Amino acid sequence: MNNIFNLTLEEIEDYLISNNSKKFHALQLFEWLYIKRVESFSEMSNLSHDLIDLLKNNFSIDRLKVVDVQDDKDVSKYLFELHDGEHIEAVLMKHDYGNSICVSSQVGCNMGCKFCESGRRKKVRNLETYEMVLQILMIEELLGERISHVVVMGIGEPFDNYDNLIKFFKIINHPKGLAIGSRHITVSTCGVVPKILEFSDFPLQVNLAVSLHAPNNEIRDKIMPINKVYRIEELFKALKYYYNKTNRRLTFEYIMLKDINDSDECARELANLVKDMNCYINLIPYNETNNIDFKRTNTIQLMKFYDILKMNNINVTIRREFGGKISAACGQLRSKKEEL
Ligand code: SAH
Repeated sequence: MNNIFNLTLEEIEDYLISNNSKKFHALQLFEWLYIKRVESFSEMSNLSHDLIDLLKNNFSIDRLKVVDVQDDKDVSKYLFELHDGEHIEAVLMKHDYGNSICVSSQVGCNMGCKFCESGRRKKVRNLETYEMVLQILMIEELLGERISHVVVMGIGEPFDNYDNLIKFFKIINHPKGLAIGSRHITVSTCGVVPKILEFSDFPLQVNLAVSLHAPNNEIRDKIMPINKVYRIEELFKALKYYYNKTNRRLTFEYIMLKDINDSDECARELANLVKDMNCYINLIPYNETNNIDFKRTNTIQLMKFYDILKMNNINVTIRREFGGKISAACGQLRSKKEEL
């Protein structure tokens, strides 16, 4: 049965109209789901019995099961069980500016980035919209605090699950939904060019981050198989199109991998590559894992790389590290059953 948390407000309106009900009940329903947070249709006391029956017979209102929570200072990792028994993880980070959640978009991932632990399990399926929405809604409730920021940077390639992702944005952004401001939402892609082009027309001001991780095709080919499909030139052409359409500043993520992409020469090449773009570069200290051979760049070289970018007038930041102890750091999320 379709889960009610899959539907945007417009979809609920259309559903009601085509079932001889009134459009305005959609907003009431949204309020019950996202503001009053009821767990059954029967509690929606301003809807008629007929409408409640219609909803009951056609939608489930089930939530996910939280099977584990691990805490490490300002970070918590939540393990959810889905209705088909699969598991996904989401990470809560407490910042001084608010609570942020890193959401997963797929069970497994097919992008095969060599350095990424999360991608060692092939994609099993896309997450449905409700499975993304409920990661936020449920953590908000468990925490008893509002979530103000969302990054789609957990397990999966969000642009390989585009339609569900877009519905997810519409629901969490809606003032009567989770009311998370679009500028507080960021989606990260490894560079699925056709979807970057499509995303250029998406009206909400959601931020785009691109996992670049290399200043040229030669290095990128070695660590990111997607680069064989969409070369850097094609990726940048799409990003320029995106920028011209949206005027939104891009973020490039760049993991610092020892002796792979962290030389001074790489920094200069990177500066040259992005010099015409309105962008930030976010340097990410690599989180080493037991299963993968890559090593992290030492701090001295990291700072040198940073300085070279700065001297070339590139906006650059170094990502603050979070959650290493509970395997909640970037690229370390894996569903529990897969831990080898
Ligand atoms: N598929 C999307 C989103 C998920 S990954 C993407 O590729 O952008 C989120 C970020 O974590 C990506 O930039 C990814 O390259 C990075 N990452 C993966 N493994 C990592 C690791 N071990 N240490 C640090 N960052 C990692």
